[in-house]
Amino acid sequence: MDKEQKAIERLKIASNMSLQYYEQPLIVTTSGGKDSDVCIQLALNAGIPFEVQHNLTTADAPETVYHVRNTFKILENKGIKCSFNYPTYKGKRVTMWTLIPQKLLPPTRLMRYCCSILKEQGGKNRMITTGVRWDESVRRKNTRATYELFANKIENKILLNDNDDTRRLFENCQLKAKRIVNPIIDWTNRDIWDYINSENIPMNPLYSCGFDRVGCIGCPLANTKFRDFEFKKYPKFKQNYIRAFDRMLEQRKIKGKETQWKTGEDVFETWMQRKDVMEGQIKIQEV
Ligand code: SF4
Repeated sequence: MDKEQKAIERLKIASNMSLQYYEQPLIVTTSGGKDSDVCIQLALNAGIPFEVQHNLTTADAPETVYHVRNTFKILENKGIKCSFNYPTYKGKRVTMWTLIPQKLLPPTRLMRYCCSILKEQGGKNRMITTGVRWDESVRRKNTRATYELFANKIENKILLNDNDDTRRLFENCQLKAKRIVNPIIDWTNRDIWDYINSENIPMNPLYSCGFDRVGCIGCPLANTKFRDFEFKKYPKFKQNYIRAFDRMLEQRKIKGKETQWKTGEDVFETWMQRKDVMEGQIKIQEV
């Protein structure tokens, strides 16, 4: 079976599960990136009922948000329901810039609190599709699977691949929880671009401007060189982070938390890993 057919079969299984357990169609989530666009095209080609949702991280590039809006217009003309999820924290709407002062630390590779609040809140008690792929990182290779079931705590998640026995277990599990299908989990970057070209899928314009991945501007998971490139293109985002770090330092002072950072600029330089942790300063990743 070729990869497209395998992915379509996974989507059909997920669609049936979604209708059976949640009595609602499968949700295809989109970040505005190429993998999401491939998943949307696969869902169209599978002929299944589905909805599309985008989590507004508030730190995405404007081009990404426009691209999602344009994709939604095309899908809505086909009768597909599309919606934006606005992130909330402690019951209130939040942005990256209002979240950082509340969390008292910048987001880091080890403390990705922003992901769970800004990107992963949608699809509670529904079956969702994501464009996660093993090819993206060793971590994903070791921690992600074709089908995933989330109970209350993330560490209790159940991971299953295509094998029939385990899939039946997943299908028969009565637990009402968020279920995820990752239909392109085994696709390589090459597979993705081949499919985009063969299906003529309109892409986020950032891919033609030197971006090989699109996501939040300044994401701590990216390397410093790429983050520098992003902040050069989007200086306003750099200012937003520095202001958020200034407000974060004010909050630390109010709460009596020690810090050797004097300004938001200091925090930014440490966060970009250009400066070693300043003498006596709390190491970001250890707090
Ligand atoms: S900045 Fe990175 S870690 Fe944070 S929400 Fe965006 S993608 Fe996730």
